[in-house]
Amino acid sequence: MAPWEGSACPGCGLPLPAAAGEAPTRCFACRHGHYDFDWARSYGLYAGPLRAAILQLKFHGRESWGRRLGALLASLWDSPAVAESDRPAIVVPVPLHPARERERGFNQAEILCRSFLAALRCAQRQHLPQLETGCLRRLRATQTQSGLSFEKRLENVRGAFGVEAGDRLRGRAVLLVDDVMTTGATASACAGVLKRAQAARVVVFTVARATPQVPAGLGAAGGDPVSPHGPVPLPDGQDRV
Ligand SMILES: [Zn+2]
Repeated sequence: MAPWEGSACPGCGLPLPAAAGEAPTRCFACRHGHYDFDWARSYGLYAGPLRAAILQLKFHGRESWGRRLGALLASLWDSPAVAESDRPAIVVPVPLHPARERERGFNQAEILCRSFLAALRCAQRQHLPQLETGCLRRLRATQTQSGLSFEKRLENVRGAFGVEAGDRLRGRAVLLVDDVMTTGATASACAGVLKRAQAARVVVFTVARATPQVPAGLGAAGGDPVSPHGPVPLPDGQDRV
């Protein structure tokens, strides 16, 4: 389960081609201010063994996979991509609708948060963030996001999230955790409500980034810049609704 070590958008972590020796530019969505989160990082690409491990966790709730994937998030926390001064005080999983969670028996994002924190404790890291599972709620079930564009996904999740006990968020930096990010519409919708509850900052960790054109688009001479908003159909089921 290899990390993505290629160039990426400094805003949302989307893998992007960059000329040798040059820093990558921000992607289309970040340049146009589409996201309500401050920045997002993913451990790797949604492909191969990493995708298989996420599917095991998601559909079978395998604790062993949760532990392995949580350890990958801990390595992201420790990576140079996340400055020590930039590390949030609170960790919040992207919630499932309660009916969905009852049906599945667990929320994989919460398993990831717990495993991530266990891995940090095991490595004896200082100043661990605190898990908050009750303050972000999914208020309504939403249709599957498969095949939807960013705009459609955003419409789909509009009003889907709400905050309870918002005083626990006021003025604090929040780390939002999910298994996969595709267009970022779900993470952005969550970040929007957290910020309306006066969270100071919202940053996002996902285990994997799914995009239809990466890594195939990387390094393609003269190819179009990778955009999460392109007309290419998106892979299945990534925004987890
Ligand atoms: Zn971006």
